[in-house]
Amino acid sequence: MSTYKLVCAHCRGRMRIRTSEGTHIFLRVAYVQCTNEACGWSVRAEFEMTHEMSPSGMPNPSVRLPVASVVMRRQAMKTADDQPDLLDQMEMECAK
Ligand SMILES: [Zn+2]
Repeated sequence: MSTYKLVCAHCRGRMRIRTSEGTHIFLRVAYVQCTNEACGWSVRAEFEMTHEMSPSGMPNPSVRLPVASVVMRRQAMKTADDQPDLLDQMEMECAK
């Protein structure tokens, strides 16, 4: 869980995941807190599996996710090249 590089939107400090819980097989809710004691910003975050990029080698018939579109696949290739962190993507989402 700590492999995500989460950056505080307020002070740019590093954020850590305090706790997380699975609410659904595809959805995980996390409570994230800034490690900068002077800041201490704390948020709720969601991590959701939304689309299938590649099928499983051990498929469970009850697991159904929409297959990723061509646009999403291109985005994934771009992401692999640029290696941006998760928060950069989240910030882009928020900026819309
Ligand atoms: Zn902070």
